[in-house]
Amino acid sequence: MKNYALDVWSNNNFIIDSGLLKLNYKSMPSLLEITQKIRDQGIRGPMLLRFPHLIKKQIDNLYRNFQNAIEINNYKGGFNAVFPLKVNQYPQVVKAVTESGQKYNYGLEAGSKAELILAMSKVNEGAPITVNGFKDEEMITLGFIAASMGKDITLTVEGLGELETIIEVAKKSSLKTPNIGIRVRLHSAGSGAWAKSGGMDAKFGLTSTEILEAVSLLKEADLLENLTMIHFHIGSQMADIGPIKRALREAGNIYAELKMLGANALKNINIGGGLAIEYEQHSRQKSYNYSLEEFSSSVVFLLADIMNAKGVEHPNIFTESGRFIAAPHAVLVTPVLELFSQDYQERHLKFKEKNPPLIEELRELYEALNQKNCIEYLHDALDHIESLLTLFDLGYIDLQDRSNAEILVHNIIKKSLYLKRDYTTTELVQLQARLQERYLINASIFQSLPDYWGLGQSFPIMPLHHLELTPLRPASLWDITCDSDGEIGFKEEKPLYLHDIDLDFEDYFLGFFNIGAYQETLGMSHNLFTHPSEFTIEVNEEGYNISYENESKNIIDILTSIGYNRSEILNKLKSDIANSTFIGKKEKNATLSLLETYLSQNGYLRTTN
Ligand SMILES: *Cc1c(COP(=O)(O)O)cnc(C)c1O
Repeated sequence: MKNYALDVWSNNNFIIDSGLLKLNYKSMPSLLEITQKIRDQGIRGPMLLRFPHLIKKQIDNLYRNFQNAIEINNYKGGFNAVFPLKVNQYPQVVKAVTESGQKYNYGLEAGSKAELILAMSKVNEGAPITVNGFKDEEMITLGFIAASMGKDITLTVEGLGELETIIEVAKKSSLKTPNIGIRVRLHSAGSGAWAKSGGMDAKFGLTSTEILEAVSLLKEADLLENLTMIHFHIGSQMADIGPIKRALREAGNIYAELKMLGANALKNINIGGGLAIEYEQHSRQKSYNYSLEEFSSSVVFLLADIMNAKGVEHPNIFTESGRFIAAPHAVLVTPVLELFSQDYQERHLKFKEKNPPLIEELRELYEALNQKNCIEYLHDALDHIESLLTLFDLGYIDLQDRSNAEILVHNIIKKSLYLKRDYTTTELVQLQARLQERYLINASIFQSLPDYWGLGQSFPIMPLHHLELTPLRPASLWDITCDSDGEIGFKEEKPLYLHDIDLDFEDYFLGFFNIGAYQETLGMSHNLFTHPSEFTIEVNEEGYNISYENESKNIIDILTSIGYNRSEILNKLKSDIANSTFIGKKEKNATLSLLETYLSQNGYLRTTN
């Protein structure tokens, strides 16, 4: 547990060295050092660290594997990919995606009007844009505008109604008609928590009857030459490669049939997204059953097989995997604000001149504890504490004695667990669970890990330092929202152990990993906590650069964003200070500027931690 299963989930992106978690890249800075550099500038609260090299790594990986598979299978079509913007629309992510993707002609996928505008303004020259999701006439017109601007854009129709609207717009407008794709409704569904996108009862796609109808509508409107793509998407975080292969067989045959029906311009098959990322921190087993190499070679092989059998030219392959590209790049770093049983620190012991004999005995046990005797002494200590608590109830010892006894026993258990860390027994495990500690983190789970709150999706969590020490405290994490759901509780089947830290003397930082997909715009402002301050770290051979992207929204901004009038609030505060009889005339200005400082900061806690 000392390495927090880094070897399972981190894909070699991070390594532990000298007790520190470091980036496994170029100058290999530690995350602690980066965190401290940022905090040296006065930044407090949670920090979102972005590592664009990890986006590049995933893009390179995706293209390399598919290009290999194409070569090995003597496949005649090409490989193309688009990044689905819904996964992460933040500027630094789109920048990393388009910059790293330029040499591959990596494109963007949009699922709403706002995303389409973003795609139109940010896509690399000549790279494809695909548009999925429900569309009205306006959104379809946006597609015509994009096509007329020279974009390589494909509108994927999710239903016949949309196709009819496209045909109408094409008739009445003089703008260029974009490429048209058809999303097919497959009878083979996906698997896993996000499988709702596939299957006969799926939210999207045309049935075979509708596909035939679509082809005749297009023919009638003289637009069959615009039908270039067949599309399907069976769901996110695919655990099993079986369903995607079945879906591919089905969609591949639909593609071949349509070609044989005269859809001559058809040339692309878009297999959607769904490539999985490892979030598993508690099992030695991978949570999905394929590698990217197997995935790409299965896709290429199957398509070649289907097309060869039907005598149809090999189509270009498109993928829209988003989670796979974006999840690893972002790490949330949160300071721990408090350990709730800090009171059990040894330095809180206050012995008297003369202590009750049982307390003296506990003291001796504690001092003499070693690896050989600790189980025996531990049993004695557990016995003594029972007796001491009874003595307290009967009025024979006072509150100070009881406090000393509790601290001593707590520390005897802790030290024994430490001494026996490599030889645990059931008894020790149970004792450990009793020593469970609540760590208060300066963050909001609703804002930064909404999928934990909403779907029970766990993310790898580990401290950034002290990794040379075995963590012994079973930990539950509490966030600073006033909501009991803002908690990652200790689970025996998925235990998180953290270090015993005296926060009066040092800081303790936790990292939450693989949070770069979906979490950011899904995150909500519960309690009016905002998106955390965000930093992009470019690592090079000599060191690294931190660019400070944006500090999280300040307090007055979050209030105005939900509809309050900025000057009304400021004027009210101002006049209340002016009229206050509790604030002296001379302090009024200082009080006002103090208030203004607070309003211009984010709402996370700003204690030394
Ligand atoms: C969400 C979505 C994707 C991305 O899925 P990932 O699991 O993130 O790869 C791709 N295509 C479509 C149509 C989607 O709706």
